[in-house]
Amino acid sequence: MPRADLHLHSNKSDGMLSPGEVVLEASKRNLAAIALTDHDTVDGVTEALRAGDKYNVKVVPGVEINTSVDNGELHILGYYIEHTEEGFVREMQRFKKFRMDRTFAIIKKLNTLGLYITKEQVLSEAKKADALGRPHIARTLIKNGYVSSVKEAFEKYIGQGRPAYVERRRLLPREAIELIKGYGGVPVLAHPGTLSSNLYIELCINEGIQGIEAFHSKHDANKADAFVNIARKHNLIITGGSDCHGEYKYNDDLLMGHTTVDARVIDRLKNMAYNNRMC
Ligand code: AMP
Ligand code: FE
Ligand code: FE
Ligand code: ZN
Repeated sequence: MPRADLHLHSNKSDGMLSPGEVVLEASKRNLAAIALTDHDTVDGVTEALRAGDKYNVKVVPGVEINTSVDNGELHILGYYIEHTEEGFVREMQRFKKFRMDRTFAIIKKLNTLGLYITKEQVLSEAKKADALGRPHIARTLIKNGYVSSVKEAFEKYIGQGRPAYVERRRLLPREAIELIKGYGGVPVLAHPGTLSSNLYIELCINEGIQGIEAFHSKHDANKADAFVNIARKHNLIITGGSDCHGEYKYNDDLLMGHTTVDARVIDRLKNMAYNNRMC
């Protein structure tokens, strides 16, 4: 049965591989299909689509939009979004600007705390990224010897509630769902297993989510089962993916391809996107 990994990041956000490399690695792992779902950017989609033609991997255009609920985060995937549409590109530009400003504000706080890293260092760490993020700051802190891991950087300094934390752009799940649908995409609730309460699943369902990522690296079999049942009950599309950022796990193999779904789910996503465009 052909398999698909529908949650992958590239260096256009906080992943390590270029979009082309993501697709090449997918072909090496015999994946029939992938979705590129960078945080708050579609900058890598065109390159991924081209690589998909070259390496014979079906590429689904995607994005992962970060939203806020109470004190936590809730991520919404958008599949088959009209990623070249002018209005959508403009929306993404606003995200980019916000992420840039936030990154600089975090650097300022770190400097005040006596951790001397510069904008230039972070920008050079982020290299090709369109969407700057805390992982780029964390990697810069490691390079400067202030921490020994990304995890430590979050726990000590830049995670929520830590001294150099700066609030993200507050976007509600409803706003992200509407944004995705408004540009012909299919909104899917990402990794519900990472939410602090299942009530947020209900919230997303009430606000028009069309799919649930039941299968994810952070979901064990019981969790996945529970999410499959919720999705079936509400007639939502069941998706899944590894959420690989280019990290090596499983005896030096990439995380990519270790959580997959039947590639036929892509037809459902495509049909749903078509319907969204019609309304
Ligand atoms: P940002 O988009 O700038 O708010 O950064 C969030 C990203 O940082 C997430 O998408 C994860 O990839 C990563 N991240 C969040 N929390 C942690 C953590 N505790 N340890 C390592 N990486 C994290
Ligand atoms: Fe990430
Ligand atoms: Fe996520
Ligand atoms: Zn992700």
